[in-house]
Amino acid sequence: MMYRNVPKTNWRVSELSFGCMRFKDEDTAIEVIRKAIESGVNYFDVAPLYGNGTAEVYLGKGIRGLRDKVIVTAKSSPGNGGEDVGEYNPETGFGIRTADQARRQIERSMKILGVDHLDMYQFWALHGDSIFEDGIKRGGFMDGVLKAKDEGLFDYIGMTTHSHSADIIRYIKDSPYEFDMVTLPFNLIHPERTEAIAYCAERGIGVVAMNPLAGGQLAKSVPIYQKIASNAGCDSMIEAALRFIIGQPGATVALNGITYIDHVLQGTAAIEKGTLEMDTQARLLSELGELYSTISPDRLCSQCRYCGKCPEGILIPEVLEIYTNLQLPAFAEDARQHLGAMIKLDPEGYDPAACTACRQCEEKCPNKLPVSEMMAAAAELWRMA
Ligand code: SF4
Ligand code: SF4
Repeated sequence: MMYRNVPKTNWRVSELSFGCMRFKDEDTAIEVIRKAIESGVNYFDVAPLYGNGTAEVYLGKGIRGLRDKVIVTAKSSPGNGGEDVGEYNPETGFGIRTADQARRQIERSMKILGVDHLDMYQFWALHGDSIFEDGIKRGGFMDGVLKAKDEGLFDYIGMTTHSHSADIIRYIKDSPYEFDMVTLPFNLIHPERTEAIAYCAERGIGVVAMNPLAGGQLAKSVPIYQKIASNAGCDSMIEAALRFIIGQPGATVALNGITYIDHVLQGTAAIEKGTLEMDTQARLLSELGELYSTISPDRLCSQCRYCGKCPEGILIPEVLEIYTNLQLPAFAEDARQHLGAMIKLDPEGYDPAACTACRQCEEKCPNKLPVSEMMAAAAELWRMA
């Protein structure tokens, strides 16, 4: 495993880090966490909401007896997962709006994780101005976090966000605490936040690039990806995507959502091959840009599932994934077949025409996707597919 220094901390962080959003079940999770630690992965990112509250429990069990080998972070937010400020909900980690609630939330995560000290606590889902302003108000979220840090509950404070570069930079500048790490989405299909990454690098803030495989989109096994990856001297698109991230100037680590041991092995093997040359990175970006030229990058679902349950029973991320792929010539035929099979299996879940445009999913979507518009467009595509 390769490691990076994070200037504002005394950490050596593994270039492949472990996102705990996609665990399968307890046994698999514990096995995978232990395999990752054995392979040198030392940075773990978890949230109360992940796995409907199971991820913190599984991570706690996975690191038991190995605490000195890992950097463990936890997080919560005044937001609701999307752009707005949320209602107090300790189970999900959202709507944490007072210093007292923040303190209880930090202690709650520590207890579930089974640790008496966290390495970092994060201002999670900082996706908009109302969340930021609520978070830094007197007696609010950050006051509680700063007090807990002063009392030694953790060493550093981070921020996670899906905002655009200009907003991320403003939040860093206006925050009452200079964040030590910033976690933001960055990948070959969404390579837009280079300005924020460069700004963090300038200030010695570590950058955790989340969503390196674009919500699994880059993990698909399709011939066109194989061809593009080969052109870049890589064995797979997963390898190309991870090596691209760690080659981005200013990016510290690639935070990959891991489910199976195979993901650990593939990820560590890719990272060990090192960064890609700049001209190779540029070629990859250009080839992927061309491949995805038929869709707007602002309409790509990252499969994060923050939108929660649709009252009409529509499986939002699943439908949006097929919607995306139907618009991409290289993926359209597979998507048509997949759609046919899924409609037979679960006609309600795969029926975008049932969307009433209530927009409750849009309020929670960190990527600010116009889901109801996309559902209407998907219904149209379904008719033609
Ligand atoms: S906007 Fe449509 S997809 Fe979203 S929750 Fe409402 S009905 Fe479901
Ligand atoms: S619609 Fe938005 S919140 Fe839901 S999975 Fe996609 S990106 Fe995440």
